[in-house]
Amino acid sequence: MTAASLTIDLDALTANWRALDAASGSGVETAAVIKAGAYGLGAGRVGRALARAGARRFFVAVTEEAAELREALGPGPEINVFSGHMAGDTDRIHDLHLTPMINSIDQMLRHVEALPGHPFGVQLDSGMNRLGMEPAEWAGLRDIALAQNITLLMSHLACADEPDHPMNAAQLASFRAMTDGVDVPRSLAATGGILLGPAYHFDLTRPGIGLYGGAPFAQAQPVAHVSLPVIQTRVVEAGETVGYGNAWTATQPIRLATVAAGYADGIHRALSRGLTLYAGDTPCPVRGRISMDLITVDITGLSETPAALDLLNHVQTVDTLADLAGTIGYEILTSLGRRYQRRYSGA
Ligand SMILES: *Cc1c(COP(=O)(O)O)cnc(C)c1O
Repeated sequence: MTAASLTIDLDALTANWRALDAASGSGVETAAVIKAGAYGLGAGRVGRALARAGARRFFVAVTEEAAELREALGPGPEINVFSGHMAGDTDRIHDLHLTPMINSIDQMLRHVEALPGHPFGVQLDSGMNRLGMEPAEWAGLRDIALAQNITLLMSHLACADEPDHPMNAAQLASFRAMTDGVDVPRSLAATGGILLGPAYHFDLTRPGIGLYGGAPFAQAQPVAHVSLPVIQTRVVEAGETVGYGNAWTATQPIRLATVAAGYADGIHRALSRGLTLYAGDTPCPVRGRISMDLITVDITGLSETPAALDLLNHVQTVDTLADLAGTIGYEILTSLGRRYQRRYSGA
C-alpha cells in the first residue's frame, strides 16, 4: 500500500437511497443529488449504482458536471441542472439531454429562444434568497412557462436540518402559494426536508448528503472509508517534540507512527488538536501539527504496528470530523481531494 485509500461502499449508498425513498412515501419519486462529483465520491460510479437501485432522476450543480454522469448513465435517466441555463450552456444542454432548472426571466428567455421545446424546470425562491425566481417574477412569467415543456417546479429549504425552525413552515407556505393548482410536478425537500414529513414531499424528493452517510439523516450507513498507510514508526522520548512548530512535547516515552496523508487530502490542519485515527476500534491520538502530506500519531496503545490507520470508519464518521473541525459533513466529504486511491465496494 502506498497512497491513502478512499473506499466507497456502494451497498451502503444504495441502502441509504432506498431508506430515503421509503421515507419519501409511496407515489413520491426519489431523485439523487450528485453535484460536486457526488459530494466528492465519484459521480459516474455513484450515479450508476443509484440508477441500478432505481433512481431515475439526478441533479448536478452546473452543466460541466453532467458529461461524466451522462456517459455513465446512458441516455435514459434525467439529469437536472440547478444553475439553470447559463450563457454558453446551450450546446451541452442539447447534446447531453440536460434539463436546466430555470432561475430567472433572463434564463427563461435564453432557454426558449435557443432550445424551443426542450424540457426545463423552474426553481422558485421561497425565502432563502439564493437561487430561483421571486414570487413576483414567477407571477409574471407563469403563463408563458406553463405553455412550454416544463417538467418540474422546485424550491429549496434554508433550515431543514432544524425541524422546529419556523422558516420551514414559512417556506412551505410560500412554495404552496406559488404552485398550488399548477399541474406540474413539484419538489421542495432535500435530505432534511424528507425528514420533516409528508407535507414537504410533494411529487419528488432530492436527497444528497443522506445518500453519502451524513447528518441530518441519523440512520444513514457510512459510505466513505478512509485509510492512511503507516510509513514509519519511532520512539519519542520524554521531553522530545513532534512536528512543525514543536507543537507537541512528549511527557513520557511514546511510540509514534507517521502516516501518508495530510491537509492536502482534506484533513484540515485545524483538526490537529483533538483528531484521532483508528486501528480497528482502538483510538490513536494525533500528535503535533497536521502537515501537507503527513500526520503523526501516538500508537503506544497498540501491541503491533498496523499497516494503516483509519480516518473514516464505522466509529468515526464524516460528522465526527465535521464537529471537530467546526464545519459540516458536506465540506469534509467534498474536501477529500484527488490523491486518494479510490476503491468501490459492493453493488
Ligand atoms: C445540494 C442540494 C440538494 C441536496 O441537499 P442535501 O442537504 O445534501 O440533501 C437539494 N436541492 C438543492 C437545490 C441543493 O442545492
